[in-house]
Amino acid sequence: CAGGGAGSTPDPDSTGAAATSSAVGEAGAGGTVGVAMPTKTLERWIADGDAVKSQLEEAGFTVDLQFANDDIPTQSQQIDQMITQGADVLIIAAIDGTALAPQLQVAADQGIKVIAYDRLIRDSENVDFYVSFDNFKVGVAQGQSLIDGLKERGDGPFNIELFAGSLDDNNAHFFFDGAMSVLQPEIDNGTLTVVSGQTSIDQAATLGWQQEKAQKRMEDLLTAHYQDKKVDGVLSANDGLARGIITALQNNGYSGTVEDGFPVVTGQDAEIASTKLIQDGVQYSTIFKDTRLLAEQAVAAAQDLLAGEEPEANNTTDYDNGVKVVPSYLLDVVTVTQDNITEALVDTGYLTQEEIDAGV
Ligand code: BGC
Repeated sequence: CAGGGAGSTPDPDSTGAAATSSAVGEAGAGGTVGVAMPTKTLERWIADGDAVKSQLEEAGFTVDLQFANDDIPTQSQQIDQMITQGADVLIIAAIDGTALAPQLQVAADQGIKVIAYDRLIRDSENVDFYVSFDNFKVGVAQGQSLIDGLKERGDGPFNIELFAGSLDDNNAHFFFDGAMSVLQPEIDNGTLTVVSGQTSIDQAATLGWQQEKAQKRMEDLLTAHYQDKKVDGVLSANDGLARGIITALQNNGYSGTVEDGFPVVTGQDAEIASTKLIQDGVQYSTIFKDTRLLAEQAVAAAQDLLAGEEPEANNTTDYDNGVKVVPSYLLDVVTVTQDNITEALVDTGYLTQEEIDAGV
């Protein structure tokens, strides 16, 4: 890929880029950054990868960007290789947050700085900084939008089911805890009923965040628990899962829009296919995380670390990785429904109206 011959020596010719970005400093210009992303199956990671790469290149870095097809050994090998090829900094969105300790030890031994991107890397002291969104707040926003969507229909009680992300992803736990912080009181007071009784994250988890797995589980839940009942809402941890859930519901005779009574389904990531479903009134909400801003934070952190400075953190308490609390910079998120889709996604330039209309 990109890395190759440029090596790790500062490149004195990296003209305009270094001059326009004073924060790069002499130490930063011309360094090599390895960027490890989990998979191309989700739009967001492609957007993340593109944004990080282009912003780093603009700042004068050489970039080695790799996607690991959601395969843990592949990601470990890619990181090994980035280290061998002379990376100065690693920016890693881990597949399994607990699987990278050996790689990170080698990196630390060679003075390579490590930034955990979006997902915290666990069980290692060799994580210098974490850039992400406020993942607990993402969960709160998901839970709250499920409640809001249902309450537009009256006071309940409402039948719901819960779908969490992959247990090896640290974020999945934050999303679920955040959502349950607002859902549990409504379950306790009888407004919401989880008909299957599957209320723990272990029961609600979706291995590898796989859409087909969510679809299958929703189908199984409908068969086992909803022969004589109706589902009113589903907490879905992201848009991919939401599309699996919606397909299962549609295959089982649920039709029309949320306004007509189709179950209220939440999401996350503002994926194009889901924004179309939201515009069409089929999916109730998504949580928009502006990956362009996350890339900016990652690039700024890389520049600081290479200049021997501490990146600016806005959270130094919440992200304990099992060995230490990793200083973090967390971004805010926006709940998107049919009501603010244009303002949140089109006006900000994240998606075009044509993309949303086409759904691809
Ligand atoms: C990310 C989500 C994404 C999920 C599946 C999470 O760690 O924060 O944005 O939907 O992984 O890739």
